[in-house]
Amino acid sequence: MTTVAPNPHSPYANANPEYRHIFPSPIFFPTPNPGVLAPAACELMAVVPADLIETEPGAALPDGLCPDCVAVMQGGAPPKHPSSRCGECDAATWHGALCALCRQEKHDEWWPTREGSSFVKPADRPAEWARMAAEFAAEGRSHAEIAVALCVDESTVARLLASDGAE
Ligand SMILES: [Zn+2]
Ligand SMILES: [Zn+2]
Repeated sequence: MTTVAPNPHSPYANANPEYRHIFPSPIFFPTPNPGVLAPAACELMAVVPADLIETEPGAALPDGLCPDCVAVMQGGAPPKHPSSRCGECDAATWHGALCALCRQEKHDEWWPTREGSSFVKPADRPAEWARMAAEFAAEGRSHAEIAVALCVDESTVARLLASDGAE
């Protein structure tokens, strides 16, 4: 049986860092992009890995998965998490010192600056994205392909291409 690695690290994730957490099937939400901090099946936040695990009923599950996530995927209830208030926006939350939205916001700012990524200062990011979008467009890639490459949606690509050269 294979063992899967835990989700990518984020200081704003609060799911158990020893396990790989499962993201519920995207019935209501679009598939989360890799690198995004998202709520896992155990209702705690974890970073979406590049490769998602198939957890269809009957599928053999690898080792290393979060037992709470597995229980939920198999029809069980998520564990109860103590509620608290977010230290940033004061919203009621079960994510501890920060609520899910504040965790996502801070993660999004931190993610491109993490070790091993090519560092682009937050203020430079729109310009950097516009530059990359223009480069991909020059290579003849479609908006959809550029969206995937930059981990943004197509309307953002259109905006980036429109803003290119305007500054
Ligand atoms: Zn979990
Ligand atoms: Zn908050």
